[in-house]
Amino acid sequence: MEEQQQEVITRLQRAFRSRVTRPVQFRLAQLEALHRLVAESEDQIVAALHQDLGKPKFEAVLSDIEMVNNEIVFAINNLQSWLQPEYVEKNLATKLDDCFVRREPLGVVLIIGAWNYPIQVTLSPLVAAIAAGNCAILKPSEVSQATEKLLAKLIPKYLSQECYAVLCGGAEETKKLLENQFDHIFYTGSQPVARSILQAAAVHLTPVTLELGGKCPCLIYGNLDITAAAKRLAWSKFFNVGQSCVAPDYVLCTTQMRDDLLPALRDALEAFYTSEPQKSPDMGRIVTGRHWKRLIDMLKKSAGKVVIGGQSDEQERYIAPTVLVDVPEDDVLMDGEIFGPILPILTIQTLEEGIDFMNRREKPLALYVFSDESKVVQTVLEHTSSGGFCSNDGIVHMALQGLPFGGVGTSGMGSYHGRWGFETFSHRRGCMMRSWLLEPINVLRYPPYQDRSLGW
Ligand code: NAD
Repeated sequence: MEEQQQEVITRLQRAFRSRVTRPVQFRLAQLEALHRLVAESEDQIVAALHQDLGKPKFEAVLSDIEMVNNEIVFAINNLQSWLQPEYVEKNLATKLDDCFVRREPLGVVLIIGAWNYPIQVTLSPLVAAIAAGNCAILKPSEVSQATEKLLAKLIPKYLSQECYAVLCGGAEETKKLLENQFDHIFYTGSQPVARSILQAAAVHLTPVTLELGGKCPCLIYGNLDITAAAKRLAWSKFFNVGQSCVAPDYVLCTTQMRDDLLPALRDALEAFYTSEPQKSPDMGRIVTGRHWKRLIDMLKKSAGKVVIGGQSDEQERYIAPTVLVDVPEDDVLMDGEIFGPILPILTIQTLEEGIDFMNRREKPLALYVFSDESKVVQTVLEHTSSGGFCSNDGIVHMALQGLPFGGVGTSGMGSYHGRWGFETFSHRRGCMMRSWLLEPINVLRYPPYQDRSLGW
């Protein structure tokens, strides 16, 4: 394993030093090849995602395939302009100089992915790494095994083997890999593992991007169309069986709102997944038996009352879309990120109480507010902090390339998507091209200084 890792790193470092990744034509050709990979392998990708997560084809195409396609097309269309030098404001002393910021590749970067959107969270950062002119190693999650194997097969078939590689394995292999020096580490995954990634990066002073999770709140308050709100909430929560880093983790609303919301949620869920969601082709599965057990244990230990769902099947790693009420603030469901199809509803009396509740907790990756009253939305936006923000819907903000996607505080550091990813994988080199003119005025800065003052 170590030998293979060494061989790959050395090969990529050599390629980077040869400057093969620098020309824009090379980057565009690799991005086009990646586009072909996704297009020509769509059926295999859909099948692998179904094998790993029981992902319905629609969800696989929307959240893994199309997200990556959009990133590629956006990068291809904008790369030339991203690479232009950015001229900066000058002062009197630099009037005759050329002063600009130049985007340069970092080198050989390592991209470590999670299992929930195993194509999106590996290939989207890869798009940004290629666009910025880097060589890259992908380390997909070993948990989504079928997708891991597929990526290891497809990447060398389509992309330059000198510049890009896939290394497989779990925690042990990744720890070994992290002993090596990289020029950037881009990690998507859980907070506990992120701590060891940071420690490993510290040894080589390697910059890192951490795309983590957390508990994303959804505050529902004031006037609104409860039927539409229930549909949007149910879709964004139970998409990918709740295994989304930006899934609404819990709901905060008044008792009255909760009583209105529950029948609307029941209707929405029945319309989406029928009265027997286990048989619905649109309901995926929990990724492994271990992850299924963790969720069932949480459900058993919770002091909350199940009012929708609650059924499960270990054999099929199935858990019904489940909603609980009367969940105390210190409940097991309010401890860590749920990351499954379980939605606790907690009640508040006022908007201020809801804002206070969210602010007592760690800054989430996304924060949602549902309300038809713009004052409510603005107040929540002004008085809270989170990686991203979306009003009147869930998870969809992450699909827009113009918005940076990333966390704040314990939900992550750094961002990507669109230009933001290109920036993450680029070094912004501040350049000053000095003119030889006006040498006589330099006497002002050369010694002997004598009594010269800067007070002009
Ligand atoms: P994880 O942290 O267990 O694993 C992620 C990656 O780290 C895998 O490739 C795994 O092989 C590797 N890894 C595991 N243990 C390791 C160790 N000790 N040392 C080094 N590497 C190790 O995360 P996961 O369970 O795959 O993903 C779920 C988490 O990811 C959730 O918290 C979710 O919110 C988060 N997530 C975040 C985003 C985002 O964009 N912010 C996207 C998807 C998932």
